[in-house]
Amino acid sequence: MTRIVDLLASGRTFSFEFFPPKTDGAQLSLGRTIAELEPLDPSFVSVTYGAGGSTRQRTHEVVSWVRRETAITPMAHLTCAGHRRPEVAQILEAYREAGIDNILALGGDQPADEADRRPSDYRYAAELVEDVRAAGPFSIGVAAHPEGHPRSPSRAEDRRQLAAKLARADFAITQFFFERDHYVRLVDEVAALGVTKPILPGIMPVTNKGQVVRMAELSGTAFPGWLAERLDAVEEPEDVRRVGVAVATELCRELLDAGAPGLHFYTLNRSSATREIYANLGLPVAAA
Ligand code: FAD
Repeated sequence: MTRIVDLLASGRTFSFEFFPPKTDGAQLSLGRTIAELEPLDPSFVSVTYGAGGSTRQRTHEVVSWVRRETAITPMAHLTCAGHRRPEVAQILEAYREAGIDNILALGGDQPADEADRRPSDYRYAAELVEDVRAAGPFSIGVAAHPEGHPRSPSRAEDRRQLAAKLARADFAITQFFFERDHYVRLVDEVAALGVTKPILPGIMPVTNKGQVVRMAELSGTAFPGWLAERLDAVEEPEDVRRVGVAVATELCRELLDAGAPGLHFYTLNRSSATREIYANLGLPVAAA
């Protein structure tokens, strides 16, 4: 049994996030990405959970595959959106049977298309944390939003709700952001509310500006002018990647210097940017 709360207690963690592939081809490509990242000896990898339902079973399949076929510790994301309590109980039972010890308990967002929406017994992620806790000895993570969640009326309110949720969980992982101070302020403000559990910063290397700008808009993340300028100063996709990797490396250094308990990379199911950042940071890589 490898619980992320125990890994965090024994030192910094370096982890990667994937989404479940929709096709067999994408599944093969994800398998390749995971094989390429395995020599980096990640502390854990996590697999997202779809709002619509079609990829939900695939989350279970991917985390179970990682558990069976690799030496990496997996974590399954699970959302409140579209779930009744008995369904959640079944999903958690299946994870226990598959030897999955780590769950990221999330609010989730309802699908944009109303026809895909399903009723939920949950309103907030904190309620799901309670049910996961009651279901077994899972290590439980939650989401944190350094610049505030888009639905929060204020940053202060966002921090109060996060502190209450994190007090019941084991650790948090943040939404991506581009400036160190957003993270430091989050950690300080939650600590001022009496909660000092580990908060892992989420890192999104920009390898495609348009794609990340869209994701930033949806998640309430500011895309800073200085970053847009640096990316706009280059034209070739390879140069955009190079700038994105350099900027992410610098942010990682600043976060580690600020005392972050680890780094969690949003890989978008590709390995090369993360591998380059690892190399830039001088983190150990096992021989292939
Ligand atoms: P909550 O904690 O429920 O918070 C949602 C909003 O409600 C916030 O504004 C909060 O301040 C407010 N709130 C919370 N509790 C209360 C309360 N008691 N009273 C009043 N207001 C309250 N989405 C997916 O669909 N699948 C994924 O796999 C996924 N993975 C993610 C991984 C990470 C690391 C992060 C940061 C986000 C992820 N998301 C994922 C997105 C996430 O589901 C959305 O951001 C969602 O809108 C909010 O999730 P939450 O867990 O923060 O929700």
